[in-house]
Amino acid sequence: MDFALTEEQTAIFDMAHAFGQEHIAPHARQWEADGTIPKTLWPQLADLGFGGLYVSEDSGGSGLSRLDATLVFEALSMACPSVAAFLSIHNMCAKMIDTFASDDFKARVLPKALTMETVLSYCLTEPGSGSDAAALKTRAEKTNTDYRLTGTKAFISGGGYSDAYVVMVRTGDDTARGISTVYVEDGTPGLSFGGLEDKMGWKSQPTRQVQFDDCAVPHANLIGEEGKGFKYAMAGLDGGRLNIAACSLGAAQTALTNTLQYMSERRAFGQSIDQFQALQFRLADMEIELQAARTFLRQAAWKLDQGAPDATKFCAMAKKFVTEAGSKTVDQCLQLHGGYGYLADYGIEKLVRDLRVHQILEGTNEIMRMIVARQMLAN
Ligand SMILES: Cc1cc2nc3c(=O)[nH]c(=O)nc-3n(C[C@H](O)[C@H](O)[C@H](O)COP(=O)(O)OP(=O)(O)OC[C@H]3O[C@@H](n4cnc5c(N)ncnc54)[C@H](O)[C@@H]3O)c2cc1C
Repeated sequence: MDFALTEEQTAIFDMAHAFGQEHIAPHARQWEADGTIPKTLWPQLADLGFGGLYVSEDSGGSGLSRLDATLVFEALSMACPSVAAFLSIHNMCAKMIDTFASDDFKARVLPKALTMETVLSYCLTEPGSGSDAAALKTRAEKTNTDYRLTGTKAFISGGGYSDAYVVMVRTGDDTARGISTVYVEDGTPGLSFGGLEDKMGWKSQPTRQVQFDDCAVPHANLIGEEGKGFKYAMAGLDGGRLNIAACSLGAAQTALTNTLQYMSERRAFGQSIDQFQALQFRLADMEIELQAARTFLRQAAWKLDQGAPDATKFCAMAKKFVTEAGSKTVDQCLQLHGGYGYLADYGIEKLVRDLRVHQILEGTNEIMRMIVARQMLAN
């Protein structure tokens, strides 16, 4: 068993880290204030191969493993977890297209997705269905010429910002087998957006409802086969969960590193605060938890890469463990900064806000426990 990263993996991490520190970190606060990420960032990330991280090389992607991809998200989220997580969603959609769409569809759509000229959003959640995603109600009626979509998707990252939407819709009965996936381009008549959601964190990513009112989508925009959409939607989630966990890990590591530095400079009662043993123990606890989180995350990613039968369970366990460890760490780091931790200038309060949602999306951490418990009981 070898726990070390290969030279190539170290190079991938370093490249993503350097890009993040140069092109993302200096702007993260401004983008948060603006409520948007400049679209010019994405082609720059795509130049590094990050527009299709695990899209196969045959389709023009980078063909990286899921473990490699977690390194990219860990490194980028050291600059800003909101930006890194948005890239993860685009990659999840690109991978769905690569895996399930026809060759014609791929040839039409993937090249621009890989250069990130086309930024993709993932539309599963609805106002009335989140965890119980298979209860979705957005309908796509098939006519002789097209699908006619009617319904509303909620909480869509990139809603009203992205160039195309990978949308789970109901084409058949009320079960998961009645769901299909269609591709809706921005500007399609009948496609509109709700107002900008005012969120706790992830503020640089615009989140809106995505609405369909008799929105006509050509038959050719069906991804894969009718009735398999729920399977496709879920297939992307194991890896998406690893990415979100990696985003928590990278951001928490940055908070811990900055906190160590801050504690060596901040003085109280005649000494730097890193000399108080009670606080040293807290540092040690955070280090232990983050190292455990990193090892567990990489093990889960390795299982997914191997196609291990328990990969889904491990992805769920890692998502729950790492996102909770990440949030606990950034909260502790804020505490160790005292009042300054509460000020935006120190960068910690943003991380507390950004990481909180990682326990809610890509399946809530309650749903992660449900997946784990189901597997335990089945065994
Ligand atoms: C900022 C943000 C961005 C998002 N981006 C996207 C996106 O791009 N695309 C997209 O499709 N969705 C997106 N989502 C939606 C997200 O995936 C859902 O919010 C999430 O799946 C939870 O669904 P819900 O909010 O409807 O909560 P609910 O499903 O209503 O859950 C409410 C509570 O009940 C718990 N619960 C539900 N069922 C069970 C159960 N069986 N056992 C135990 N507890 C249970 C949940 O864990 C939660 O604590 C985003 C959400 C946010 C906040």
